[in-house]
Parts: sequence; structure tokens; C-alpha cells
Amino acid sequence: MAESKAAQVRALVDQLNGWRRAYYTEDAPVVEDHVYDAAYRALQALEATDPDLILPDSPTQAVGDVVLPDFTKVPHPLPMLSMGDVFSLDELTDWAARLEAGVAQPVDYHVELKIDGLSLALVYENGQLVQGSTRGDGNIGEDVTANVRTIKDIPQTLAEPLSLEVRGECYMPKAAFAQLNAAREADGASTFANPRNAAAGSLRQLDPKVTEQRQLATFMYTLIDPAQYGVTTQHEAIAFMQRLGFATNPSSVVATDLSAIDAYITAQTADRDTLAYGIDGIVVKVNDLALQAQLGNTVKVPRWEIAYKFPPEEAATVVQDIEWTIGRTGVVTPTAVMTPVALAGTTVARASLHNVDYIQAKDIRIGDTVMLHKAGDIIPEVSQVVLAKRPAASVPAPIPANCPSCDQPLVHLDDEVALRCINPMCPAQVQEQLTHFASRNAMNIDGLGPKIIAQLQALGLVQDVADLYTLTAADLSVLDKFKEKSVNNLLKAIANSRQNSVERLLFGLGIRHVGSKAARILAEHFGDLDHLMTAAVEDVAEIKGIGPIIADSAVTYFRTEAVHTLVAALRQAGVNLTYKGQVVAADGAFAGQTLVVTGKFTAFSRPELTAKLTALGAKVTGSVSKKTDLLIAGEAAGSKLAKAQSLGVPVMDEAALLDKLQ
Ligand code: NAD
Repeated sequence: MAESKAAQVRALVDQLNGWRRAYYTEDAPVVEDHVYDAAYRALQALEATDPDLILPDSPTQAVGDVVLPDFTKVPHPLPMLSMGDVFSLDELTDWAARLEAGVAQPVDYHVELKIDGLSLALVYENGQLVQGSTRGDGNIGEDVTANVRTIKDIPQTLAEPLSLEVRGECYMPKAAFAQLNAAREADGASTFANPRNAAAGSLRQLDPKVTEQRQLATFMYTLIDPAQYGVTTQHEAIAFMQRLGFATNPSSVVATDLSAIDAYITAQTADRDTLAYGIDGIVVKVNDLALQAQLGNTVKVPRWEIAYKFPPEEAATVVQDIEWTIGRTGVVTPTAVMTPVALAGTTVARASLHNVDYIQAKDIRIGDTVMLHKAGDIIPEVSQVVLAKRPAASVPAPIPANCPSCDQPLVHLDDEVALRCINPMCPAQVQEQLTHFASRNAMNIDGLGPKIIAQLQALGLVQDVADLYTLTAADLSVLDKFKEKSVNNLLKAIANSRQNSVERLLFGLGIRHVGSKAARILAEHFGDLDHLMTAAVEDVAEIKGIGPIIADSAVTYFRTEAVHTLVAALRQAGVNLTYKGQVVAADGAFAGQTLVVTGKFTAFSRPELTAKLTALGAKVTGSVSKKTDLLIAGEAAGSKLAKAQSLGVPVMDEAALLDKLQ
């Protein structure tokens, strides 16, 4: 029997190590965390029966992350460890009982959210940031200092000139994660499975400009050498780090017993969907730092803290159809259309299946019962097919060979995972391009949505964005439900868009990699489209905030003959091709004030609000400090609000802001 146990251990170690390679080295896990966790627990249970079974390469013996060879190595004199975990309140109670029996005294706990990111260590000398590093294998991490300098909430200079090290979590907010995956999918690239892998893939970049675009954020939770600053508890450590200028999570509490921890878990589980970032559990820590030191660590985990991991939120439903849609750049994306089902606070009826490889790897078929979860707490994803429920007559889903819109053959470009339609006249692509052109952050043509665009295309009235400017009242009057008023409104909105500053046009053209921020930088730098169109790629790449990928894409785009024709048509139509600059009112409502914006707003998108405040004379910055004059806080404001309150910075909510803007 011993032999078969050893064989089981070997098989589990090999399986787990294979999963760990995909997860830690490629930031692309092949199984869900709860599947990994279950196998890990099975291994732990087997190893517990006989220590001789523990293999040298067992994942229970080492912190997992792999140090990538491209990075400079950073030794951690104090190891950065992993964390033990429990999966129920009963297990948590046992853990606390063992701990309290061991120290023979009641214990206060510090209870925190377990942020779904990766650990990060920051070193400061005389108050200046000098190094940022990843956990790596716990003893040796990767030097990511240049990347860390691009993360907005990490202070370059501390409020006091101290030399110290702090550690915490680097994460990708839910909105940034959703945006990144949508952009990658539209680009034909693979998507990240969860915010933790997205954050790891973004922090461990050789080009800091890529990291900068990924909108990473942090929460610091560990102060190294706390006694040096008279800090004696974890609670004080958090407050100390906050005073120094670090982002710390506002949701932590001190709990003196298990019922308080239980109440915290219940409350945080209920609030989980409203958070701006993903969490995968709760961390319970001994609050007294001297007691922490006394308890110490095992080879892999501290004895004084434990993670309570949330159970996976899953729901079963049936795939009714697989729809194939064409994006703006021709990428064809399959979507599962499912029987609607309630999952983690919303009703889910559709989930992206990303690409053909994904469908084939999971063997997802029409008629299958599937388990759904939400990646990063927000994006519905098919976890797996319930094979036991597969209908007998089931066949693999047919993969289209031709574009469902224009019927041209679909292709794979280079090593892209996506299927693409490369017909530039494909009506579905053109519809997406026109919709993007008219959208709020682009040319902002109110009333020109996908349905109207489809009708205009069907009538042969528009084939590209320049055609919009040739539309007449007679053309529009034949549209479905279009009366005189709607005709006039749409004509007016199109006419007004001619006056837009050129960055809106640049963004609206949908040039690969040129988002609204890059469009503004390019417009500001070149002043008009003509100068940008004749610029050399090296000159564009040198502009701060642009970099080689955007530069190459923009320059290649403007070298295309068809684009020259399009720009000539736009010029002919009277569309403005110059940068008008930000019109800043010297006597604006916020003239000379330094503002920070946080949370969600109902009346504006965040870029709109920032543009509005800037136009009213404000300087809008990314993080709250003593120099901040005012924090504008929308719904679900988090750490910035807490920081403003602790620094005594005045706070204005959306209602008060709307009053002031009237
Ligand atoms: P972990 O992620 O379970 O917990 C430890 C980490 O939690 C710390 O290193 C720290 O970065 C983080 N953390 C977040 N908030 C914190 C807070 N408030 N205080 C302290 N730490 C906080 O452990 P790990 O060793 O980093 O990773 C193991 C886990 O990774 C597994 O349990 C599994 O879920 C997942 N994993 C999955 C796969 C897969 O294939 N799906 C493979 C390997 C690992």
C-alpha cells in the first residue's frame, strides 16, 4: 500500500508543479484556484500520514513564484512567505484554538481583506523610493523598480525621510482588468484568467511603459522592523504606513474573538461585488507584533496568520448557442448564449468564449451544461463542462471558416490565437468602427448608435467615417422612427463634431494601440494631423507616454494610401484636424486647486469629469496627499477617501459637485 501512496504523492506533485509553472511563470493558469487548492490539500493530507513521503520538489515545501531570468535578482533578507489557508469557519476556529492554546493567552486579531494580486516589497532610503521587488521564490525576488515607479499610488517620497521596507499587494482594479481583457480580445491576444495573473503579467514587464498603461494599484500591509518606529500592533502599522503616504486598505478591523471575525466575513462576503478590486478571501493576523515574532514561521508560511478563502461562486446553466461576432479590427469572438442564471449578484446569460483554442481546450458544445464563475469577481467565464450531463447526440461546435458578416474566408494572422476577417469593407467591422467613431470619448456624436449605423449601411449611405459628413436631412428621414426632430438633432450632432479638437478624431479612427490618452499626447505634441502624418517612427516613440508599440502602429497607419484618402475626405468635409488645447478658464470654479477624483459617478465618466475639472482650472492628480485641496468622491470611494479623511482634506460628493457646476 505504501508504494501506491508514494505513487499518488508523485502524481500529485507532478500535477501541481505543472499547474504552478503555468500560473507563476506564464501568468496563465490552466485550472481554477479551487481545483488547485483541492489537489494541494490532498497532497498535504497524504504527506501528513508519513513525512517520508514528502518529496524535495513538493509544492508544500516552497513558495511558488519563479524568478524570470530577464530580471535582476533581489535577495530578501527577511523571506517573503506564502500563507496557510482554511476553507470554512470550523477550520478557522480550529486554527485559532490551536494558536491560542500554544501561546496560553487570549489573542487579538487584525482582520483584513485578501487582495487578489501579487506581493510587492518596497525599499526607501531617507524617504526616497529606491527599490521595488516581487516575492519570487521567497528568498530571491525580481527587481521591478522601474515598473513600480509608474504605479500612481506608490509614493516616490515619503512624508518623513525614513529608511525602511514595506510590503503589500500590487493589484489590478476590476475596471482596469475588464478593460485590459476587452482590449486584448479585440486585438486577437489571449486574455488573463484573473486580476492576480493580470497584475503579475503587468508588473513583471521589461518595458515600464507597458506597466504604466496597465493601471496597477497597491495596498501595503507589512511594515518591516516595526519596533524601530514604536509600532507594536498590525493595526498601528497600517496607520503608520498610511501617514507616510502609502495606500492602505480601509476595511481592516481589530477582532477580539471568533464571532467578530465571523461577522466581518459575512459583511465582506456581502459587499464583495461592490469593491473596485478583487478579493479571494479574508486574512486573519495576530495583531500584536511581538507575539507574531514569537510565533515565527514554518518553512513556507507564518504561524501567526491564515487566509480564509472564499468558496468558489459558481452556477450551472446550459449553452443554447455560440454566437460569432466581428470586432472593429476584424477579430472574430465566440460568445456562449446561455439560459439566464443568477451568479454573484447579477443575472448572466452570455459569456465570452474568447477564441477557438479556448472552446476546443474546454470542449464546450451547444447543449452542454456548464459551470460558470466570475473571473476577477466581474467577468462571467465558463469554468468547465459538466460531462455527465452532455446530451448523447452532442457534437463539437462548428468553427466558422467564413466571416458571418461578409462571407470572406477567416484567417489566423502570425501567431494570434484569434480568427480574423481581413476584409476592410466587411460590414460588421465597418459598423463597429463607425460606432466607435461616434462614441462619447471619440467624436461624441449623440444619437448615432449601432442600430442607426446599421440602417445607414444597409441603405448604402455610409461606407466609412467621412461619409457621415455627407448625410442630408433627406437621407436621414427614411430611417426607422426618424421624425423631423430626430433628423435635426442627429445632423446637428454630426455638424458639431466637425469642431472637435483633433485628439477625438485620432482616437475615433480606431488606430491599433492608440487609446484616448495616447491620442491626446500625440495631438498635444504635433499640434495637428499633418505633422503627425509625416513624423518618423523614432520621433514618435520618443514622446513621453507613447513608446515603440504605439509609435509603430500610428506611423504605419498614416503611411497607408487608404488612410490618406480618408483624411482628405474628412478635411474636405470640414472636420477640424488641429489640436485646440485645453481651454482653461483662469477664473474657473476650481482655478489653481489640486484635486483628486475617486469612486464612481452617475453623471460623468471619470475621463469626462477630469476633463471638466481641468477646464475649470483644476490640476487633477492621482493620489491624495497633504497638498490636495479637495477630494471629489463618487460612489464606492475606498482608500483615497479614507486617506483624505485622515489628512483632513475636504471631500465633496457628486451632489455637491453638481450644485457647484451649475
Ligand atoms: P496565497 O495567494 O493563497 O496567499 C498568500 C499571499 O496573499 C501573500 O503572499 C500576499 O501576496 C497575499 N495577500 C493578499 N492580501 C493580503 C493581506 N491583507 N495580508 C497579507 N497577505 C495578503 O498564497 P500563494 O502562495 O501566493 O499562492 C498559492 C495560491 O495560488 C493557491 O492557494 C492557489 O489558489 C493559487 N494557485 C493557483 C494555481 C492554478 O493553477 N490555478 C497554481 C498555483 C497557485
